[in-house]
Amino acid sequence: MMITCLCLLLFAVYTFKQVRQKKYFEILALKDELTGIANRRAILNLKRSVMLQNKLNQQVSSLISIDIDHFKAVNDQYCHDIGDELIISITNTIVQTVRCSDRVGRVGGEEFLIVLEDQSLEHAKDIAERIRLSVAEKEHTSLSISATISLGVIEIEPNETSEQAAKRVDLHLYKAKRGGRNTVYS
Ligand code: GH3
Ligand code: MG
Ligand code: MG
Repeated sequence: MMITCLCLLLFAVYTFKQVRQKKYFEILALKDELTGIANRRAILNLKRSVMLQNKLNQQVSSLISIDIDHFKAVNDQYCHDIGDELIISITNTIVQTVRCSDRVGRVGGEEFLIVLEDQSLEHAKDIAERIRLSVAEKEHTSLSISATISLGVIEIEPNETSEQAAKRVDLHLYKAKRGGRNTVYS
């Protein structure tokens, strides 16, 4: 009896540890290592599921695509570590400017995507402008450097695919860059 109880206890502890470890690795796989926010895979998954929710609930959601302006020059002028610090500082600024329900992910080196669930284009434009200003007004990194970002904004169309929405928001970001940077294009 004692031995059976002990075996059961050991088995329960082992299973608990396995489950906890699995959860830990699942969280790790969805986090961006440098900034701690959602990584590319996580934010793209979220975009897809929000687009599904939009269809089911007939709600509108929006996307903001962000790219740091002239980031290569920061790496070149200072160093890669200051470049990393700038990415972290801009991430924190973005996260502090949006609401908890707005999901921010790092999709590439100095590129971010924000999924604004249940937010129309008008709201998304306001949020994007607020983010742009917050980043531009702040001094970043241990060297107190200035930085700007360009932002593309779209409202997701009911019948477009996730890829089409991604292309459209990136086109808007490209237009913000062509428009002189430090701007929002919607
Ligand atoms: P633009 O205004 O047109 O966006 O110019 P840019 O210089 O920001 O764009 P570009 O794509 O030429 O440069 C991006 C640079 O980002 C190049 C790459 O070395 C750097 N980079 C990518 N990932 C990281 C990272 O994790 N850390 C740092 N420090 N640099 C990175
Ligand atoms: Mg880029
Ligand atoms: Mg850039």
